[in-house]
Amino acid sequence: MTGHTQREVRCGNCRRLLAKGEAIDLTIKCPRCGCMNHVRGTTPGTEGQRASKETSHGPTD
Ligand SMILES: [Zn+2]
Repeated sequence: MTGHTQREVRCGNCRRLLAKGEAIDLTIKCPRCGCMNHVRGTTPGTEGQRASKETSHGPTD
């Protein structure tokens, strides 16, 4: 089994396929509609850790 699935990067405006694979931090311009797409990659394993900083609403003195 190949557990490596390539992620598809699509234009947020016209859904054109722009790239395939892993993107850490990428800005790509759609050649079709000219829309700038900002892509931030999520690596499997780090997704579960992002909830830790959002729960910082404590009672403020
Ligand atoms: Zn587009």
